[in-house]
Amino acid sequence: MSNPVPQSALDAILGVVGPKGWIDDAHAMEPHLVERRGLWRGTCAAVVRPASTEETARVIRICAAAGVPVTPQGGNTGGMGGAVPDGGIVLSMGRMNRIRAVDPLNHTMTVEAGCVLAAIQEAATEAGCLFPLSLAAADGSCQIGGNLSTNAGGIQVLRYGNARDLVLGLEVVLPDGRVWEGLRGLRKDNTGYDLKHLFIGAEGTLGVITAAVLKLYPAIHAREAALVAVADPQAVLDVFVRVRTACGEALTAFEMISRMPFDFALKHVERMRDPFDAVHPFYALIELTSPRPGGALRASLESVLARALDDGVAKDAVIATSEAQAEELWTIREDINEAQIPEGGSIKHDVSVPVSQVPEFLHRATKILENAVPGGRVVAFGHVGDGNIHFNLSQPEGADTDAFLAETNRVTHRVHDLIAEMDGSFSAEHGIGLSKRDLLEHYKSEVEMDLMRTVKRTLDPMSIMNPGKVL
Ligand SMILES: Cc1cc2nc3c(=O)[nH]c(=O)nc-3n(C[C@H](O)[C@H](O)[C@H](O)COP(=O)(O)OP(=O)(O)OC[C@H]3O[C@@H](n4cnc5c(N)ncnc54)[C@H](O)[C@@H]3O)c2cc1C
Repeated sequence: MSNPVPQSALDAILGVVGPKGWIDDAHAMEPHLVERRGLWRGTCAAVVRPASTEETARVIRICAAAGVPVTPQGGNTGGMGGAVPDGGIVLSMGRMNRIRAVDPLNHTMTVEAGCVLAAIQEAATEAGCLFPLSLAAADGSCQIGGNLSTNAGGIQVLRYGNARDLVLGLEVVLPDGRVWEGLRGLRKDNTGYDLKHLFIGAEGTLGVITAAVLKLYPAIHAREAALVAVADPQAVLDVFVRVRTACGEALTAFEMISRMPFDFALKHVERMRDPFDAVHPFYALIELTSPRPGGALRASLESVLARALDDGVAKDAVIATSEAQAEELWTIREDINEAQIPEGGSIKHDVSVPVSQVPEFLHRATKILENAVPGGRVVAFGHVGDGNIHFNLSQPEGADTDAFLAETNRVTHRVHDLIAEMDGSFSAEHGIGLSKRDLLEHYKSEVEMDLMRTVKRTLDPMSIMNPGKVL
């Protein structure tokens, strides 16, 4: 627990942001102190809501001078506890929500860190463009500053990349209160180290992102979705390769769902129905998009799936015939997280391996879980086109939840050891935060840890920025 914040520092901060940027009432601070699932709870002296980069810089200068810890916070939707404060102040970015500029010709927009992701998507659409980052259910509450700080992934990484790939420039308030003005909208700029990548994915430990220049893409005018039933993970991959080869960059999303989460969704999600007559062990959810209107996408999807069915690679397939049906198919995938809750305790892994090794990982990791917890129910789904699997274990039916969850470390270590052996990642898209700090220390090499600590010490020698997170 960090030291109390000197009253003089709090008075000075209040003087900068004024009453509109200041919360110290216990009830109003509450949503800023807890992680969304209630897994972590923190404390802070005040929630500070700056309205501009200038105010942010002045606040950070006061904190640097007084040694006050600062926890940046966006929409507080992150799942690793990274936005939970440990004393000091919370710097909540929601008032910095201006879209500063849209340049459709340069295909860029300049936004402040507190812009909600859905608002950015809408502004891009209004300009006749697309901003492709999408986390589905979180879009209406997460902020771009949080998305960039966690290098968020989401459902269109396959086509457009992670948040990191969607940024051309950043504006950052450094831990000493200086402002790095890196808001360049250039696609070519080889002038020294590419500093923006230090701050993207840093989870607020190296500075406060206050604005960004984002990449835009042509608006989408054709969309097709299909659900394909297959026998095993190798067939999921075979379908993936066939669709990728036939449809090229039109392939926007390729998700896998195993039968267990499919069953959970059927059981617990209202209006969910199985589009197939038979039960299948695995499903692939495919989305193709194109800026060109017309039926070309549908024709190529029909043709590649017909061949997969003829060859026996696919067991059954349904192509959505309307937007509403496409949404229904996506509901199966998007509601899996919620559908796991009524099934009791869940031990979760957010892992990745090279796409080519997904079947081997699923085979070996399933065996590990079956041996570790007899009767446990393997819930495997995720962005398989990116090699990213959400590989969870729901408790055996009727088991005691606390006793099951007490096994978490024993189980996850075995899965993460396998991931390390396969040169994968133990945190594919959700970051480190508080939750995976020990794993970082355990699985990263000494050289990598040393480099990370050197960067942290150099930029933030007093360790005021989100202390205790990541490192
Ligand atoms: C329903 C749901 C679905 C999700 N789906 C996905 C998904 O598909 N893919 C995925 O990758 N993630 C997903 N997430 C988690 C995802 O990381 C967050 O939703 C999002 O990226 C975090 O944004 P936020 O504004 O809520 O950040 P917060 O949770 O507020 O903060 C996250 C981290 O960033 C730091 N931070 C926030 N703002 C700034 C800033 N301006 N400057 C510096 N540091 C800052 C915080 O200190 C913290 O360490 C999902 C979450 C939910 C609830």
